[in-house]
Amino acid sequence: MLHSKLFLKTKKEAPSDEVAKNAILLDRANFIYKEMAGVYSYLPMGLKVLNKIENLIRKQMDTIGNEITMSSLAPKELWEKTGRLEEVDVLFKASAANENSKNKSSNEYVLNSTHEELITPIALEFGKSYKDFPFAYYQIQTKFRNEPRAKSGLLRGREFRMKDLYSFHLTQEDFEDYYEKAKVAYMNFFKEVGLGESTFITSASGGDFTDKLSHEFQVVCDAGEDIIYLNKNSGTAYNKEVLEIELKNNNLKVEDLEELKACEVGNIFTLEDRFTKSFNFQYTNVDNQKNVVPHMGCYGIGSSRIMGVLVEKFGDEKGLVWPKAVAPFDIEIVSLHKEKNDKVYEVSKNVYQMLNRPPLTPPYQGGEEYSKKYEVLWDDRELSAGVKLNDADLYGIPMQIIIGTKNLEENLVEIKLRHTGEVVKVKVEDLEKELMSLWQKVF
Ligand code: ATP
Ligand code: MG
Repeated sequence: MLHSKLFLKTKKEAPSDEVAKNAILLDRANFIYKEMAGVYSYLPMGLKVLNKIENLIRKQMDTIGNEITMSSLAPKELWEKTGRLEEVDVLFKASAANENSKNKSSNEYVLNSTHEELITPIALEFGKSYKDFPFAYYQIQTKFRNEPRAKSGLLRGREFRMKDLYSFHLTQEDFEDYYEKAKVAYMNFFKEVGLGESTFITSASGGDFTDKLSHEFQVVCDAGEDIIYLNKNSGTAYNKEVLEIELKNNNLKVEDLEELKACEVGNIFTLEDRFTKSFNFQYTNVDNQKNVVPHMGCYGIGSSRIMGVLVEKFGDEKGLVWPKAVAPFDIEIVSLHKEKNDKVYEVSKNVYQMLNRPPLTPPYQGGEEYSKKYEVLWDDRELSAGVKLNDADLYGIPMQIIIGTKNLEENLVEIKLRHTGEVVKVKVEDLEKELMSLWQKVF
């Protein structure tokens, strides 16, 4: 990708209406655009990061469920049926905006904050017999919540992205079995996205309709709103709300635990028969009796919140720092050319073309162990070296290739690792080999 085709203008100063580090850096780097408090649009590089996070989630969820997409707009009646229209204190409603529209339809709709009301009627259409169970559906979709404190950028949106999965089971044992599999898939995802070492499975309250615990996935992070108590020996943690009872149950003392600030990035629950009952969801069992209500579970991950958490954890005074698994590009070529077609520009162009060529396919001719397909951004703009170097640090792409006149006199270019700041000078002809070995060092 050529930078000149991205149509961006980075900002030197923090926007005056943002206080959260993630919002400030993402806005300055033009990854997001603020529409209003808690509502953001995603610009080219921001969308790339979000898509990569969501694809990593998808990869894990495909091992335990089938992907669907449910509607954002729901008939109000579905929410009346479960009694939650009046109960959920962050629920938004949508209705005709003007008289002409009202003349067409005066119906009122809910903008879904979560999708139990939609998934259960879908599931009851297909779960007719015990033979149809178990099954699980998931989606990655936009959610709407009327959050009172929308000052934390992507950490707390009024419109935000979430993966939500719902599973249906014949027995409690089968549900519990699946629940453990979901925990494994979740931790695999957190490892892949670069948060493996700082994410802890945390016992929390199960909500209003069950005595059972739920499990939150909490990332240790100063910007988080939660307090967790970590048992370092077992690697498990407790949310403050269940601490007292869990200390008793597990024969622990609070001194054994470390108190940490954390941000909830995922939450898995048993729903028991709370929703299946509301929709009169019954299946026929082996004896052809139609009176059995399935067990249901729900499993959420906040994909846009994770994007914010990555900035909070890894961003520094120079800007964003992305783990390589979700960076918008792998490499940025920072070409410090004075004008188009000078030597620096030509070398940069060659490097760009070399890194963009299609990956080699077997049979190999030799030397291809260095071959990897990178996603490359070339800063081809005619701007000062200072602006380009600062922008590159602000974007947080893992590897920079800095190409300038002085080094080129000796046929050298610089490779800079954004997360450590390490700079290595390499010969142009060794570039590909050096990139490959440095790529292993990127987190
Ligand atoms: P919180 O306690 O932070 O308000 P929650 O417990 O209400 O979150 P859930 O209903 O469990 O959230 O939603 C599942 C996941 O969706 C959360 O673990 C979180 O990662 C994400 N999420 C929830 N609310 C928001 C929001 N307003 N903005 C961004 N992500 C959110
Ligand atoms: Mg939660």
